[in-house]
Amino acid sequence: MEEKVLIVKFGEVAMRGNNRPIFISQLVKTMRNRLDKIGNFYIVKEQGRLIVEDRGGEMDYDSVIPNIVPIFGLVGVCPGIKMTDQSMENLKEAALRHMQTFFGKEKTTFKVAVKRADKRFPMTSQEAAADIGGYILEKMDNLTVDVHNPAVTLQVELRNDAYIFSKVIKTFGGLPAGSSGKGVALLSGGIDSPVAAWMMAKRGIAVECVYFHSPPYTSEWAKQKVEDLAERIACFTGEIKLHVVPFTEVQLYLLENVPHDKLTIFLKRAMMKAAEEIAKKNNGLALITGDSIGQVASQTLQGIHAINSICTMPVLRPLAGMDKQEIVDLAKKIGTFEISIRPYEDCCTIFVAKHPETRPKTSVIEAIEKNLTQLEDLISSAVSKKESIEK
Ligand code: ATP
Ligand code: MG
Repeated sequence: MEEKVLIVKFGEVAMRGNNRPIFISQLVKTMRNRLDKIGNFYIVKEQGRLIVEDRGGEMDYDSVIPNIVPIFGLVGVCPGIKMTDQSMENLKEAALRHMQTFFGKEKTTFKVAVKRADKRFPMTSQEAAADIGGYILEKMDNLTVDVHNPAVTLQVELRNDAYIFSKVIKTFGGLPAGSSGKGVALLSGGIDSPVAAWMMAKRGIAVECVYFHSPPYTSEWAKQKVEDLAERIACFTGEIKLHVVPFTEVQLYLLENVPHDKLTIFLKRAMMKAAEEIAKKNNGLALITGDSIGQVASQTLQGIHAINSICTMPVLRPLAGMDKQEIVDLAKKIGTFEISIRPYEDCCTIFVAKHPETRPKTSVIEAIEKNLTQLEDLISSAVSKKESIEK
C-alpha cells in the first residue's frame, strides 16, 4: 500500500525527559482539533515523528498543510509518501514519482539519503541511496547529482513502513499549546494585544482571552473583530476561549467619579482586576497584555506602575521592548494585522482624555480608588455577566 501523508517533526530539545509524552499528546490534540474541521484524518505516532494520514481518500496537501504549519511545537512539516512494501523496486518507483511530482521540470541538483531503522534491509544505506539516485537520474534529465551541496535532499526512511519526502516546510517552533500552564490575555481589537497573546501562546501557555465590551460605546463590529482575532490565534493553538465582559457600567461609573486625565489608568486597573478574577476562577497563573513601553500615555513606566499595582498575578508584557514597526511586521506574519486594521471606529471618545496624565503617581491613584466604594461590586457584577465563546 502506498499513500500521500504528512511527516510532522517536532522540537526534540524541549521534549526531553518526563515532559515528552505530555508534550506529544498536547501536539496530537492540537492537530486533531484543526484536522477534524476539514476531514477525517489519522495521526500516527512514529519514533520522533507524527504522521498524518487522510482517511477520506487521497490527501490534498494544499488544504491540509496550512492547517498544520501554524501549530506551535512543530519544527517542520514534510509532504511525503508512506508505503508498506519496501522492496527496492517499489522504493525506486515511488521515489521517482515523488520527484516528478515536486520537481518535474525544474533544473536542480539532488541527492538521496537513506535511513534504515530496520537493519534487516538487504543493502547498506549508501548502496540503497546510490541505487535509487541512479534510477531517478536515468528518468529525469532536469536533475543532476550533487552529494555535497544539493538543492534537494530526497529522504528515504525505512521504518516499520517506508517514508519518502524531500521538502521540509519550516514552522513557527515554540512549545505545544497548554504545556506551560494557563494565562489570561486582555484582547482588544487593536494591533498589539493579539500579537502579545500569540507570543505567549507560542511558549506553550494555554491562553484564554478577555475582551471588555462597552455597548453602545463600542460597536458589535468591534466585538466581531475580537472574535475573529481569537479565531486566528486558535489556528496556532488548536482552540481558544474568549470571555466577553460587559463593561459599560464600570466605565460610566469611573467617568463620573475620577479626574478625567486619570480615567485611562483607572479603567485599565479595573480591566486588570476583572481579568484577574477570571484567571483565578479558571486556574490561570498570569495575565498578558499588549503594552509596549512609551507607545501611548498610559504605557509610560509610571503608567504601567500605576496600573500594575492592582495585580497580584504576574503580568506578562511580551511587547514591552518592541517598536511599533516590529509589532506590525509580526502581526502581518501571523495574520492578525488585516483583522486589527478593519476600519470601523468605536464612538467612545467620551472616555478618552484630551490630555491624559503621562506620569501618574501610584499612591495618588490608590488613594482616589479607596473612595470608589461601588467599584469592586461593579467589577464583580460585570465578570458574572460575561459571555464565554469557544473558538
Ligand atoms: P492594542 O493595540 O492591543 O489595543 P493599545 O496600544 O491600543 O493596544 P491600550 O489601549 O493602552 O494600548 O491598551 C493596553 C492593553 O490593555 C492592550 O494591549 C490590551 O491588552 C488591554 N486592553 C485595552 N483595551 C481593552 C479591551 N477593551 N478589552 C481587553 N483588553 C484591553
Ligand atoms: Mg487599543
